[in-house]
Amino acid sequence: MELPELREEVCAANIALAAQGLAPFTWGNASGADRERGVFAIKPSGVPYEVLRPKDIVVVDIETGAVVDGAQRPSSDTPTHRRLYQAFPDVGGVAHTHSHYATVWAQTCRSIPCLGTTHADAFAGPVPVTRFLDAAEVARNYEDETGGIIAECFGAGAADPMEVPGVLVAGHAPFAWGANVQKAVEHAGILEETARMAFHTLLLNPTVAPLPEHISGKHFARKHGPDAYYGQPGG
Ligand SMILES: [Zn+2]
Repeated sequence: MELPELREEVCAANIALAAQGLAPFTWGNASGADRERGVFAIKPSGVPYEVLRPKDIVVVDIETGAVVDGAQRPSSDTPTHRRLYQAFPDVGGVAHTHSHYATVWAQTCRSIPCLGTTHADAFAGPVPVTRFLDAAEVARNYEDETGGIIAECFGAGAADPMEVPGVLVAGHAPFAWGANVQKAVEHAGILEETARMAFHTLLLNPTVAPLPEHISGKHFARKHGPDAYYGQPGG
C-alpha cells in the first residue's frame, strides 16, 4: 500500500508539531487516516523530526492494528490513535503532544473551562479530562486502554468529538483530532494556546466565571455548522 499523499501529509504534520514547539524532544506524534482503505499512517517510534521522511511513515490497519506498510516500528502510542479512529468515525487525523500548558492541566486532572471566545471558537464546551487508568487496564494494554478512557469522555450524552476536538489524559498530556491530520495539528496548537490563556486567567482571577453560554454558543456557531459565517464562502 503506497499511499504517497497520506505519507507526505503525515510526515509534514509531524514536522509541524515539532516546529510549532508542541512536541519537545520526540514527545508527540500525529497520524492521518484513509477511511476508504481502512488504514491510518503514523510516525515511526523514536525517529527525530529533523530526519523524518515520508518513506519512514508506517501504515496501520484500523481494524486489526497490523502494520500493512513501512519498515519501521510505529509510534508506541499507535494503539491509542487506533482506538480513537474506531470510536470516532468522523475523525481523520489525531495528534498527541506534551505541549507545556495543556500537559500542566492534564497533570492537575482539571478540565479546561471555557473562559473566553478564543476557547469557544474551537471547543463547544470545556476540554474534558479523563479518569486515571486502573491497574488492570494498565497491565492489559496501556496505550489501547488510554484510547478507551478518552472515548469514555465522549460517551452517551457527553461532548461530540467533532465539536470538542481534544482531551486531556489525566496525569499524561493532551490528544487532539480533526477531519484530517492538518486539522488535528491545528487543534493541538489551539488547545495549547487555550490552556495557556486559561492558566493565566485563573492566576489573575481564581474565581472567574466561565464565559456566558449565549456568548460561547454564538462564537462556536459562527465558525462551525450550518449557519457558520466566519471566513470566506467555500474557504
Ligand atoms: Zn504521551
